[in-house]
Amino acid sequence: MQIFWHRDDLRATDNRGLAAAADAVAGDTDGSADSGVLPVFVFDDDVLEYAGDARVRYMLDALDSLRAWYRDHGSDLVVARGDPAAILPDLAAEYGADRVVWNKGYSGLARDRDDRVRGALDDAGVGFESVHDAIFHEPGSITTNAGDPYSVFTYFGRKWHDRPKADPIDAPDAATLADVDGDPLPTIEDLGFSEPDADVEPAGTDHARERLDAFCSDGIYRYDEDRDYPTRDAVSRLSAHLKWGTVGVREVYAATEAARERAEAGAVDVEGFTPEEQVDSIEEFQSQLAWREFYTHVLYFNPEVVTENYKEYENDIQWRDDPEELRAWKRGETGYPIVDAGMRQLRNEAYMHNRVRMIVASFLTKDLQVDWRAGYAHFREHLADHDTANDNGGWQWAASTGTDAQPYFRIFNPMTQGERYDPD
Ligand code: FAD
Repeated sequence: MQIFWHRDDLRATDNRGLAAAADAVAGDTDGSADSGVLPVFVFDDDVLEYAGDARVRYMLDALDSLRAWYRDHGSDLVVARGDPAAILPDLAAEYGADRVVWNKGYSGLARDRDDRVRGALDDAGVGFESVHDAIFHEPGSITTNAGDPYSVFTYFGRKWHDRPKADPIDAPDAATLADVDGDPLPTIEDLGFSEPDADVEPAGTDHARERLDAFCSDGIYRYDEDRDYPTRDAVSRLSAHLKWGTVGVREVYAATEAARERAEAGAVDVEGFTPEEQVDSIEEFQSQLAWREFYTHVLYFNPEVVTENYKEYENDIQWRDDPEELRAWKRGETGYPIVDAGMRQLRNEAYMHNRVRMIVASFLTKDLQVDWRAGYAHFREHLADHDTANDNGGWQWAASTGTDAQPYFRIFNPMTQGERYDPD
């Protein structure tokens, strides 16, 4: 038997680690419980420590949907709570598994944990494999000509676009999955959280595909022009799905390439946009997937950015300590309409539009001159899509302490930004 350890890859389709585990049992499986892939999820207290109500709600909903998929395919999800380095060897012994497979994580926390898990499995005589899955191009595979990681997106993005992209892969065959009884999922209160005030989006692969299909039939063709306008409904809203891995990046990319074929064939009728503009828009969207990979690489090579400024000399910034103004910002009570609208969207939807994320982050760090770490911590607590690499990259970009940052003297004027992008 093989254990597949789900983490932030809560899907069955286009999951390379799961496919690797299934491939290993295919051929010699007889459908009995001791010969298939055993799907496992561990509620890890080290990870939960940094979570908020909305993100935990989203994760539980995504797990519920994943579990339903396994049940429809003659298997089930085994869940446990605690330290994966203690739990996984125990589960391997209990079920007679000889190997544990998972998809690689790239943050410092994930890598430290995975190293500990490898050590514990090794000690227990259990094999393991970690598979490259979450992004197209692994850290270290896109570098300067001197072999260094990029600190500026432009050249990284060009190389990213030029590289061939892997195709999505199918979900494993039901015959390769272990026929087991799983465990009930804990309630949000069991995990020490409460139902969020925010109206959190539905989770799960079916919902991700609905979003992707809807986006690829309209918004993607006008993305380049409309994505900065919060009311134009021209963004994918896939961020929580990509963060939790309820859809694979290869599946998303393949859908954008299919959209490109339709645009190039002149088969798309989106008013005011020529086929050439439609193709440019699709490439602009693909660039956002490249940004996601860029920040993943940055975090991989600089795990300390979670708490430290990326640029050393900028660590001397004298931030203002102003709890009153920070609180007004958090509550959406600054008096600046687009800043307040954004902060209320965060509270109500556990999501915020990208243009508005940039505006509220600039406002906190450049106008109020409050440390980006306070803003990052607030986003981390309230976003359903909080992703360490992207959230940190976004904050440090806005604060001018990060990679590829706008210079420190460039400040988004919250009034003109509001008038330009959302006057109503
Ligand atoms: P789309 O425009 O449809 O983009 C598609 C996907 O590309 C996104 O889902 C995301 O995975 C990726 N992407 C888009 N823009 C960026 C970007 N600038 N950097 C990295 N990846 C990007 N994104 C997160 O996924 N999680 C976060 O916690 C997060 N925090 C942010 C904090 C700040 C201060 C800023 C300025 C940006 C942050 N972003 C974050 C990036 C971006 O705002 C969101 O990815 C985007 O708004 C999500 O909406 P969408 O899925 O409709 O995006």
